Amino acid sequence: MFGARLEQLPEIWKELVDAGFESGQAYGKSLRTVKSCVGSTWCRFGVQDSVAMAINLELRYRGLRSPHKLKMGVSGCARECAEARGKDVGVIATDKGWNLYVGGNGGFLPAHAQLLAQDLDDDTLIKYIDRYLMYYIRTADRLQRTARWQEELDGGLKHIEDVIIHDSLGIADDLEAAMARHIDTYQDEWAETLKDPERLRRFRSFVNAPDQKDEAIAFVPERGQIRPATNEEKGGVLIASTIPVRGQG
Ligand code: SF4
Repeated sequence: MFGARLEQLPEIWKELVDAGFESGQAYGKSLRTVKSCVGSTWCRFGVQDSVAMAINLELRYRGLRSPHKLKMGVSGCARECAEARGKDVGVIATDKGWNLYVGGNGGFLPAHAQLLAQDLDDDTLIKYIDRYLMYYIRTADRLQRTARWQEELDGGLKHIEDVIIHDSLGIADDLEAAMARHIDTYQDEWAETLKDPERLRRFRSFVNAPDQKDEAIAFVPERGQIRPATNEEKGGVLIASTIPVRGQG
């Protein structure tokens, strides 16, 4: 939805919420996507139902705020079509269950996720992911992704394995309880904002003219859509990129 103006967002969200959609939190440091391949339902190589597991993970961790964005992937066999090892949490099906990989990402400094545990059943997989994510959320620096957190953590992956699998710090129950609280209190932020006049007041360009749109924001058509106009396309109207400070010319 490129090109939506601030004051249009509540109207757009209302239509989406009424149609059964919910916020994906792509604006926050939180869970983004859980990518999956087509899995055993549609693929002859699939050994587990990766689609069902991906939906399960997405519903469980949606809205989870964290030090940085989180991405996950679930592949239905070792061919790895969902590229799960390029995600913060990657799940790859085996004949006996699921392998769990942690600490992967793409982007500027790509990192392959590392194997944390093998051949897990569904419940153990989810338990370990609950613990892993909560431990990361509680101990990583702000804006530190899982790969860098794992690298800088004293003891690295071995330490994570001790804490998550062997409960070496005695905090596993606490981490699981914290995740359970997140799941129990999850709310769709679009729907909640639409119900709250105070929050809706943030979505206007001018405090004293709530219905007025900001004319400084101009668009031009491209490939059948609109995109922001350049200064030249705005007809020579120069929009200051910095705010002049008194006494500095
Ligand atoms: S990862 Fe395996 S199960 Fe999934 S689509 Fe690729 S080949 Fe099929």
